[in-house]
Amino acid sequence: MADLLIIGGGLAGSEAAHQAARRGLRVRLYEMRPSVQTGAHQTHHLAELVCSNSLGSNLPDRASGLLKNEVRMLGSLLLECAEAASLPAGGALAVDRELFARLVTERVESHPNIEIVREEVREIPASPVIVASGPLTSPALSHSIAGLSGEQHLSFFDAIAPIVHTETINMEIAFRASRYGTGEQDEGDYINCPFTKEEYYAFVEALLQAERIELRSFEEAIKSGVKAGHFFEGCLPVEIIAERGLDSLAFGPMRPVGLRDPRTGRRPYAVVQLRQDNLAGSLYNLVGFQTNLRYPEQKRVFRLIPGLENAEFVRYGQMHRNTFIASPKLLRPTLQHVRRDDLFFAGQLTGVEGYMGNIATGLLAGLNAARLHNHEEPLTLPQTTMLGALCHYVTHANLKDFQPMKANFGILPALESAHKLGKRERARAYADRALADLTSTLIRVREGEPAPGA
Ligand SMILES: Cc1cc2nc3c(=O)[nH]c(=O)nc-3n(C[C@H](O)[C@H](O)[C@H](O)COP(=O)(O)OP(=O)(O)OC[C@H]3O[C@@H](n4cnc5c(N)ncnc54)[C@H](O)[C@@H]3O)c2cc1C
Repeated sequence: MADLLIIGGGLAGSEAAHQAARRGLRVRLYEMRPSVQTGAHQTHHLAELVCSNSLGSNLPDRASGLLKNEVRMLGSLLLECAEAASLPAGGALAVDRELFARLVTERVESHPNIEIVREEVREIPASPVIVASGPLTSPALSHSIAGLSGEQHLSFFDAIAPIVHTETINMEIAFRASRYGTGEQDEGDYINCPFTKEEYYAFVEALLQAERIELRSFEEAIKSGVKAGHFFEGCLPVEIIAERGLDSLAFGPMRPVGLRDPRTGRRPYAVVQLRQDNLAGSLYNLVGFQTNLRYPEQKRVFRLIPGLENAEFVRYGQMHRNTFIASPKLLRPTLQHVRRDDLFFAGQLTGVEGYMGNIATGLLAGLNAARLHNHEEPLTLPQTTMLGALCHYVTHANLKDFQPMKANFGILPALESAHKLGKRERARAYADRALADLTSTLIRVREGEPAPGA
């Protein structure tokens, strides 16, 4: 009889299994490969890296490097295997993917407290469990997860629109306004890029000709429209909308209704609207412009938008399969479900993005499942640590705009004394504070005192 079930032998699930097992729990780890495939994984190994072979920066003053130092302190098995399989890659931790996955598989398989069952789990079990089935969670299990809290709290795709630096928008052409003047700000909430009829058709033509990122089999649904990103929002890439008819964008995301160009006094033929993306107002995103164009093509084609001819892109648009739950509503920073203490989520499903973040949340879920089993309070890590900040972010973000988040210094609480420092020194100060706070948390835990926030 197992003390803990884990669904998914990927990055998070393998790490979680090892953490719980080394604390004495009998763990049953379910992995559906090779009998059921995800479409992205190619082997039967645990912890297979599906794309890049880099686990990000290893430098201590980079966000991903800090996260590595934290999970190193917490005794991560996967980081140990990654280091054993590392390849020369400058400041990054790149690995021989085959060796990495083989090492993890051997270590997990040979652990006396872990039993691996090669089976698809189709329903969330009623006993203590960590769900770590990843961005390509099987449809049956996705259905069961959705059943916990309603389908509107599960997202299947990411749909990210491009973001530009506000100061690079040409305001001699673009103008501020809200449709029918209904916005909150007097000058209008949106920046609008107006098209003449000729400009619009030239833009649509370029969009249709532009090179796209090829969709994988498990992403074909994107072509017919998917629920993506913001929960429950129907999304199609702009280039697919354009394929449906030359004027379909002008009646869709580029519709000009309720807008007048102050320079002509007339309604433009079409409009691209940009919405403020950060509090400082230094970034704006192109509303409804999720896309699968290749990045250089996005730069070329979207610069044809009047007013964006010199726009600098902070982030390009993308659409891809990504199952994640509405963590701000469903999870606690301990990675426990809000309504079930013995139900944990880990990895990409929580909305924490990137290989290292997925390993780190697996580690915390495994550690906390073991603490729960041993009648100890599950740990909430300090928000000043990168892992604590990630868990805090995904469980406290604004649900309406919730998007997966990877390690970055922007999610750590501000450090007043670091205000005047340069970028690198500031990062070092954040990293020093994080490791000091994690050290004191671990000392407190070892001495049996509850951790702060627990
Ligand atoms: C195509 C693709 C490319 C990506 N590329 C990168 C990248 O280059 N860099 C990066 O940092 N991140 C990347 N990511 C994001 C993410 O970091 C990885 O997907 C990462 O592997 C997620 O870790 P995980 O443990 O959450 O899930 P996974 O590593 O995917 O592990 C989940 C495991 O659960 C199994 N499983 C699923 N459903 C069931 C079930 N019902 N029963 C039993 N087992 C099940 C799967 O077979 C899988 O082995 C990518 C994601 C995708 C989809």
